[in-house]
Amino acid sequence: MPIYEYVCSNCACQFELMRPFSRSGEAAPCPKCKKPSSRKISAFAAFAKGSDGGSTAPIAGAGGGCSSCGASSCSTCGH
Ligand SMILES: [Zn+2]
Repeated sequence: MPIYEYVCSNCACQFELMRPFSRSGEAAPCPKCKKPSSRKISAFAAFAKGSDGGSTAPIAGAGGGCSSCGASSCSTCGH
């Protein structure tokens, strides 16, 4: 069973929780204040996404969201 990291938006404490993948997106109760905490985005995921985007489509990444149509500006595709 994978371990996920969560950060509490109420008291800012971070904790790890082992739970099924199917429940990874659900809020987890904070061990300190018992408030529901959202899952923390791991540094590994952010790094992997950044390196992949930079190597495959640097222009689309800089423009922001036109990688599907290949345009450098969103005004051309009406997105
Ligand atoms: Zn908390």
